[in-house]
Amino acid sequence: MLKGGEFIVKKESASNVFIPEEWSEEQLMIRDMVRDFCEQEIINPMKARGRELEATKDRDEIVALLEKSAEMGLCGLSIAEEYGGMDLKFNTGLLFGEAIASGFSFATTIGAQTSIGSLPIVYYGTDEQRAKYLPKIASAEWKASYALTEPGAGSDANSGKTKAVLSSDGTKYILNGQKMWITNGGFAHVFIVFAKIDDDENLSAFIVEKEFGGVTIGEEEKKLGIKGSSTVQVFFNDCPVPVENLLSKRGAGFKIALNILNSGRIKLSAGSIGGCKYGLTQAIEYATERYQFDKPISDFGAMKFKIGEMATKTFATESAIYRTGRNIDIKEKELTDSGVDKYEAKTKALKEFAIECAILKVYGSEVLDYCIDETLQIFGGMGYSQETGVEMGYRDARITRIYEGTNEINRMLAFGELMKRALKKKEIDIINPGKKIPMSFLKQIFSSSYGVGAEAKIVENMKSLFLAISGISGKKLGLKMVDEQELIMNLSDILSEAYICESLLLRVEKLRSKNYDKAKMVVIENMLQLQMYNSLEKVRDCASNAIDSLPEGSRQGLQRKMVKRFARRYDVNPTVLRRSVADYFIAKKRYSF
Ligand SMILES: Cc1cc2nc3c(=O)[nH]c(=O)nc-3n(C[C@H](O)[C@H](O)[C@H](O)COP(=O)(O)OP(=O)(O)OC[C@H]3O[C@@H](n4cnc5c(N)ncnc54)[C@H](O)[C@@H]3O)c2cc1C
Repeated sequence: MLKGGEFIVKKESASNVFIPEEWSEEQLMIRDMVRDFCEQEIINPMKARGRELEATKDRDEIVALLEKSAEMGLCGLSIAEEYGGMDLKFNTGLLFGEAIASGFSFATTIGAQTSIGSLPIVYYGTDEQRAKYLPKIASAEWKASYALTEPGAGSDANSGKTKAVLSSDGTKYILNGQKMWITNGGFAHVFIVFAKIDDDENLSAFIVEKEFGGVTIGEEEKKLGIKGSSTVQVFFNDCPVPVENLLSKRGAGFKIALNILNSGRIKLSAGSIGGCKYGLTQAIEYATERYQFDKPISDFGAMKFKIGEMATKTFATESAIYRTGRNIDIKEKELTDSGVDKYEAKTKALKEFAIECAILKVYGSEVLDYCIDETLQIFGGMGYSQETGVEMGYRDARITRIYEGTNEINRMLAFGELMKRALKKKEIDIINPGKKIPMSFLKQIFSSSYGVGAEAKIVENMKSLFLAISGISGKKLGLKMVDEQELIMNLSDILSEAYICESLLLRVEKLRSKNYDKAKMVVIENMLQLQMYNSLEKVRDCASNAIDSLPEGSRQGLQRKMVKRFARRYDVNPTVLRRSVADYFIAKKRYSF
């Protein structure tokens, strides 16, 4: 198996990747059970009530929903069986994340309970801490939340001012400070609080019970979307926290926060794809039922464009999510087999794939925004009305580009982490593959088409462009490159397109080798070509932008030729591809993959 981030310089074999067509019956049963729960317990009651869930009005109902989901085992997915959980594989947890997305804002509530609010204890707790808190969280007797952000410390999370000072008898930390945007905070019993001990440079993490005293909860925030999730400020005023409630070591809080976010990011991406699938099915159903000019609107090319694009982006992103999820599981097993502690193996495996998790957070959330926006457009005026619920989905989706690290921060993180592993830690060799690029450029200098195996060449060229422009920029700008964020955003987008396209290609190659269903394969091959076509357009755009922005005298003439060659047009007809993809799903009246 490749190391995290190594995809940019090495080829993966299709037989090594997991594809969603390989889910077991049991995994699919969990997915379907979660989808049914969302429909029966969340969607139908919302329809009957004629309005969405709102934390300002429906707190008891939200709490009851969490407890009901716990009865089905859903609050203990990542918790060990000895503490009342199910201890699912990481990839199965992602499938759960996809399915729970059809619960709209409840996905955020249960996400905080099962992910950011409890994983710090699962991964970093002592046996005593786990035994005390995890059974109560798994059963939802106690609701959990994660308190990192402060009014003055958002993206720059390590700059928080919340302070912990050891009491004179050495038994307690006295906590003072203010946290903001705390999901589940309105009804939480347990808060994972990040604070600095004395004047430490780095944060520490604490398990804080509301009952410790000195904890005050603010009013529910009035938000654009996810109104059915509780979001509040939390104030700590001389809150006494027993010393045994420090998580891991003093000063380890920032590391804990980042690692928990690695997991949160890929989970958010899986949830985004769940939202895309849900919206897409609604859009297709509506388009087949809504008649204008004596035809269903699904007959119109403009509508097929949207359906074809939405389906393709969803399918492609899904390929990368579960490829990564399985790699995290494999890495974890590799580590435990070599004697690493079970929980340390989990966090190390997540860290290994931090680059992919950041890429997926950005890509998934932006595909979701695209899909929900187009779903609303397909619904026309009815999409804008509260009656259909589409406007709620549109508002709910917007948060995904902001939390778990904004998309700007995650773009920089993906690029920065790769450069760190390559240049500082020397874990990934980008120098030698970079040396082969001029030869590859020369070989392709007179090529106008990609010929046989076009998709594999396109992916390889995307990787070459990323390496070449990173190298040129690094030489030209040196350490100043970190200040050129626009350039880094462009490079990060090329990196992402390469990963998504490669993952999709590997999925298709594996399906080809399995002689997968012929009718489905036609659609899948068309989606592959369409994704390649679109991604190449994006890569060309980002690469040109990056080259055009380099300082004068960077031999831009030559660089532009390189972009023109490596990102040359992929000779397919995108309209024919989109229509064919759309027609398949329109005939099925749903997104059926
Ligand atoms: C509904 C909701 C629920 C949330 N739940 C939780 C929770 O449960 N627990 C918790 O701890 N937090 C939570 N958050 C907080 C969330 O994680 C932060 O909002 C997010 O990290 C961004 O921080 P900020 O809002 O302070 O924005 P800022 O950091 O102020 O960013 C504002 C803009 O500046 C950009 N920016 C910032 N720094 C840089 C930089 N170095 N380079 C380039 N651009 C930059 C950002 O990308 C963004 O576009 C929640 C937020 C919301 C809205």
